[in-house]
Amino acid sequence: MTTTHAVMKFGGTSVADPEAISRLIGIVKRRIPPSRAPAPVVVVSALAGVTDKLVEVTRLAEEGEGERAAAMLKALLERHVAVATAVTNDGRAALLTAVQREFDELIGLVHALAVLREVSPRSTDAVLAAGEVVSSMIVAAAFADRRVPSVWVDARKVLVTDAEHTGAAPDMIGTRERVQERLAPASAAGTVAVLGGFIGATSNGVTSTLGRGGSDYSAAIFGACLGVDEIQIWTDVDGMLTADPRIVPRPRVVPQLSFAEASELAYFGAKVLHPSTILPAVSKNIPVRILNARRPENPGTRITADGSTAEGQLTAIACKRDVTVIDITSTRMLMAHGFLRRLFEVFERFKTAVDVVTTSEVSVSVTVDDTRRLEAIIDNLRNFAEVSCEREMAIICAVGENFRADPTLFGRAVTALDRVPLRLVSQAASRRNITFVLRDADVPHAMMRLHETFF
Ligand code: ADP
Ligand code: ASP
Ligand code: MG
Repeated sequence: MTTTHAVMKFGGTSVADPEAISRLIGIVKRRIPPSRAPAPVVVVSALAGVTDKLVEVTRLAEEGEGERAAAMLKALLERHVAVATAVTNDGRAALLTAVQREFDELIGLVHALAVLREVSPRSTDAVLAAGEVVSSMIVAAAFADRRVPSVWVDARKVLVTDAEHTGAAPDMIGTRERVQERLAPASAAGTVAVLGGFIGATSNGVTSTLGRGGSDYSAAIFGACLGVDEIQIWTDVDGMLTADPRIVPRPRVVPQLSFAEASELAYFGAKVLHPSTILPAVSKNIPVRILNARRPENPGTRITADGSTAEGQLTAIACKRDVTVIDITSTRMLMAHGFLRRLFEVFERFKTAVDVVTTSEVSVSVTVDDTRRLEAIIDNLRNFAEVSCEREMAIICAVGENFRADPTLFGRAVTALDRVPLRLVSQAASRRNITFVLRDADVPHAMMRLHETFF
């Protein structure tokens, strides 16, 4: 038997309660090789719903609602104490002390923020990180209690990031060094290292996060630094599905897809994978597998450099809701050289990513989903063009390597949407996808139509 060295990431629902944690331990134990080494590395999210609650706590603190924030934290502490108590025996006292200590610190921090009514991105990270710190402590203690050699590793001491708080980028060189120091030896010695996803720290030791959904990314970063055979994303669905199951009923599982297809789908809204997860995997050519923690016997979805779907088919469709379309018109300037540079410089200056771009003789249309700096962007664009914008729009992205080989796919996709008012349509040079921009309200109908046509 060949042994697979894996990083195994478990999302919020896979650590939601004592039953989920027991399932997780069963899944990991079955993957520990008979010789014990190399042991898997386990990355966990905060317990289901906890990060949302902590976001709410920061909002309350900002509004000076210290008491309500404290009440929410008290309820969160109780939930963690209940789970910690249920999954341990021998290690219970030490675990409860550690959990209490983390919450004492958090409660103190939130109290101070509420007094100041000021929550910076840096403080937000300090608050949100608590979710992954305590969940990973609980899971590590649960392993130890079941006599699985394991160790809790503080992810903030391993994942080094820049200082872009709430959406930090990893410093791969710094992180690789720490991984070699703190993770590799444990794994080689047959000890399951358990650490929180999503969180890291700057080189000065200030807590940071990789952005919402970032635990997938953490797992891929650790996997690339360790050079594992597989990065496993354990979640609550059977794999990458042909469409978002919250929009299209009964989508199918995509058994395999390419890194490029997975990146497009993740970027355009397939929430099952954080959009950056694929980057570290590509750099080391490590397969990523998406698996269901409730049905571990299922094969899931395997994502590799060349894996793709059967001939003549689309791979999947994804959608990104609530985006804004900005139309920039300039009869005099558009065709002048330098115009597009000037235009995109504005987006760059305000650190706002543009997702879809289309141009015509006199106008350029772009979509953005981060509207925090929209007013400033529009003001600046108005210095040299007419600008209008439309909110409550959405992007649907149909993805498939077969677009390249089969020119009829494009026409079939457009025909499927013949009753839907389309605002923009674009097919990129990679010819791996088509993107449609349409009214957000039309998304369910349009997704359904595309899904019926292709799956
Ligand atoms: P986790 O907590 O495990 O990270 P997430 O909630 O972040 O889980 O991601 C899993 C969810 O992603 C699924 O429950 C599903 O509702 C949603 N999802 C959206 N699009 C897709 C897709 N194309 N394939 C699979 N899941 C999808
Ligand atoms: N707990 C974090 C979030 O909810 C990170 C993650 O689960 O991936 O965004
Ligand atoms: Mg997720």
